[in-house]
Amino acid sequence: MSASSPPVVGIIGGGQLGRMLALEAPRLSLSVRCLDKAGAASPTGFLSKAGAVAGGLKEAAALRELAEGCDVVTMEIEHVSVPALEELERAGVNVQPSAGTIRIIQDKLLQKNHFQASGVALGEYRDCPDVASVEEAARDFGLPLMLKSRKEGYDGRGNAVLRDEADAGRLFGELAASSAGSGVYCEKWCPFVDELAVMVVKSANGDVQAYPTVTAIQRDSVCRVVVAPARCSAEARARAEAVASKAIASLGPGASGVFGVELFLLESGEVLLNEVAPRPHNTGHYTQDACAVSQFENHLRAVAGMKLGSTEMSVGAAAMVNVLGHSSGTEEGTLEVMELAAGMPGATVHWYGKDGCKAGRKMGHVNLTAPSAPELEATLLPLLACLGLDPA
Ligand code: ATP
Ligand code: MG
Ligand code: MG
Repeated sequence: MSASSPPVVGIIGGGQLGRMLALEAPRLSLSVRCLDKAGAASPTGFLSKAGAVAGGLKEAAALRELAEGCDVVTMEIEHVSVPALEELERAGVNVQPSAGTIRIIQDKLLQKNHFQASGVALGEYRDCPDVASVEEAARDFGLPLMLKSRKEGYDGRGNAVLRDEADAGRLFGELAASSAGSGVYCEKWCPFVDELAVMVVKSANGDVQAYPTVTAIQRDSVCRVVVAPARCSAEARARAEAVASKAIASLGPGASGVFGVELFLLESGEVLLNEVAPRPHNTGHYTQDACAVSQFENHLRAVAGMKLGSTEMSVGAAAMVNVLGHSSGTEEGTLEVMELAAGMPGATVHWYGKDGCKAGRKMGHVNLTAPSAPELEATLLPLLACLGLDPA
């Protein structure tokens, strides 16, 4: 492996997160090389100065080709092959976050076990190796019960809500079949009043810094809107940042980069961890326009061994609105909200350059900034109305 100048960051995955990392790289005098099945035609490949490898994210040979000439290899998705990452590490490649960290995080049950052993606040959960264990958990934890595939889940795919014990066999069978043999576990239903998220950046030398807590508004398990700072008490925000920082600090020295920490806020003000993503995260997009150093820049700084940048907001209030493919599946319908936002004060549009528009596909986002939360409403409310979203 030969280090070149400027240093090269390899990114496993070529979607929008990789693309937004690639956009930040030149200012840090870094260049990017990515791996994606669409290679140079992927949203990240288009911006990859150090080349784009066309191949599967779980193919060891493709990962070896990606690592050629890279100073560090990182990822924009956690659904990768841990043995292939371990092989890179054995060959002397610097993988950040490390294969060991990804092993824990990509399996939601191992993740829960790790955070519980580290004293991080989280709800009750249990391994469910068979239908009988689901039925037993339903009796112990009550209904509804959240069933989850251990691996490969995203946007709620891989989750199923058990509302009637009679459905245990069917739901268990469906999840077991869809999780590629990774197994199923369950979580006690969490009666949260809001979903919060905190981006945390960690350097290899153990410096851990949290961005401000945000409110993440989800519809059908998909993040639609993020509001920063979160719409909750200052105490709850501080508690969320403390839980998130403790979780990420517990990952140890092999874990550098940014991490998206999803949390539940309970009526009591208590905050519980939901899950962690070992990469830039949808709930951190607001940092591009609301913080001096975005989650993408800080991820690059962390994995490249540079000093971390400030995680403070440089504006009083911000929001992020996801632009999903219109239900018609057309680009015209999807662009409507972008066009509305384009002329608004404090709005920045981000378009991902995907090869096609499908209903529900993440096509872009709009960031809004304002001096204060009441002033943010002037731009946020018309965008929500355009998307048919209820402002509550
Ligand atoms: P992502 O796209 O964020 O990776 P995911 O597919 O990994 O999502 P989760 O974050 O596990 O899924 O869950 C999706 C959503 O389901 C959560 O944002 C929350 O709204 C709801 N949810 C998850 N776990 C529970 C629970 N134990 N009790 C109640 N609701 C839950
Ligand atoms: Mg997830
Ligand atoms: Mg989630």
